[in-house]
Amino acid sequence: MAGERSFNSDGGRQKVVQISNINCPVCGKSVGGLTKLNDHLDVDHEFDKERSEFYKGNGKSTKDLRTRQIFKKHWQKPDSYGRALCQECGVSSSKPNTFINCRKCGLLYCNLHCKKVIKLNLDARYDPLHGKWYACCNRCFNERPGYNDYGSLVDKTSHFIKLREIKNEDKRLRSLQLENRLIRLVNGIATIYAKGKSSILMNFTIRNEASELERTVTPWKNDRGVLDCSVCFQPFGLTLWKHHCRLCGNIVCNRDETSCSNEISLQHLVNAAKDLPYQQNISDLIEINYSIRLCYKCIKNLYGERKFRKDTQKTKPQLLLLCESLGSTSKVITDTIFQMEKFMVRMDDSRITDQIPKEEDMTESKKLRTKLLRSVAMYNSLARQASKITPANNTEAKIKISVQVASSTFINEKILSLKKVPGMMDESPRTNSPIREPDKIQSTDLLFNNLTISEVKKYRNELMVLKEQKFLVESMIEEAKKLRKFDEVVTLSANLSELSTQITKTQDSLGDEGFT
Ligand SMILES: [Zn+2]
Ligand SMILES: [Zn+2]
Ligand SMILES: [Zn+2]
Ligand SMILES: [Zn+2]
Ligand SMILES: [Zn+2]
Repeated sequence: MAGERSFNSDGGRQKVVQISNINCPVCGKSVGGLTKLNDHLDVDHEFDKERSEFYKGNGKSTKDLRTRQIFKKHWQKPDSYGRALCQECGVSSSKPNTFINCRKCGLLYCNLHCKKVIKLNLDARYDPLHGKWYACCNRCFNERPGYNDYGSLVDKTSHFIKLREIKNEDKRLRSLQLENRLIRLVNGIATIYAKGKSSILMNFTIRNEASELERTVTPWKNDRGVLDCSVCFQPFGLTLWKHHCRLCGNIVCNRDETSCSNEISLQHLVNAAKDLPYQQNISDLIEINYSIRLCYKCIKNLYGERKFRKDTQKTKPQLLLLCESLGSTSKVITDTIFQMEKFMVRMDDSRITDQIPKEEDMTESKKLRTKLLRSVAMYNSLARQASKITPANNTEAKIKISVQVASSTFINEKILSLKKVPGMMDESPRTNSPIREPDKIQSTDLLFNNLTISEVKKYRNELMVLKEQKFLVESMIEEAKKLRKFDEVVTLSANLSELSTQITKTQDSLGDEGFT
């Protein structure tokens, strides 16, 4: 909508020009200012249907637009004593100018709670398009249509699904077209080869006929005016030659770095898409020595999904299966230790109140211990299995080392944390030592608290952990030597000598009590 003033640029200075008289461009009537012209166009010439109907239907003219005031009949009035109550905070007052009617709902509010503004038409209805700003209460502001905390919300999901379906449909059609062309190419080439077997000029004829076939199956794009590769957009030139993709006909380069196009042998093409209905047997087809140039996009389109499907059907490598089992077993161990710690706290409490441990508590502790020992033994054997696997590739080798480090760290951490639980460690699994049967575990040592013996236990545990670490580092050194990673060998050897010194120290302090 244009304002009543317009600005003229006059030598850099802006001069206000008052337009007091203006003629309607439709009927030529003089209407006054620009705002009045807008009203005249909206109502008399029905530029705005709604406004025009309202004023014409009520027998009013555009003059009423200026003079008419917003609808007030629904306004709440103060009580007979002139007192009013704010609908939001409940403050009451009898001073008239401390209260205000919400222009929309008409209820009375204190000045504080009627500070929002909303666009209303003269009927006090919400009209974001043609309305003018009026004061309103918080409720009317928040409840106006289309308003919420996140802005206006329009659900476009179905629209997007439809768009996506169209795109997917296009993609499927494109794949079908490419598959169809590939089948025709393969069939044609197979026929040419079968015929050519009897010919003397076999090789020459076959090449000729096959390249003719390629051009009939796929219309080749005209390469005149094509300046760069349709995949990598590198400009063609003396070193970068133009090639045609035999399936889509586009012009692409054959750079090794980008693999924009490749000559792929018929054998590979057929093997990677065995599901297509060729005329000949696959076993016959893969014997044909012929290559077809395909662009990157066509390869992706034809074989991308097939490869994905094939990959997902593959069984997982042994190492990954072991990783998963290690993960779930470690969870069992952590949970059991947590339960044990909770149990020990409970036992401590009952000891403070001088209670004798109950029979069921003893069974409970036995159960937890058995569970823990079994899962630790399981974890150990899984970790050992993982360390014995010969990695199939570089990635697996990396995973293997990570598994070794992680599992030894986990075991050390958990066994050390078990020191908090007295008596828990007697049956802890030593490397290569079988786990005792649960019925042989003595339940009486649960509350055992002799200082010297517990010290012996502590040293033994430390020794065991150290020896395990030493064993692991030794195997890692061997591994690194095999892989010729000598810088790793140096750091690992330093670790090893450190561990050895610590082991001798611990063994010395244990004396005869140490086990070997
Ligand atoms: Zn007019
Ligand atoms: Zn209030
Ligand atoms: Zn209101
Ligand atoms: Zn390219
Ligand atoms: Zn292509």
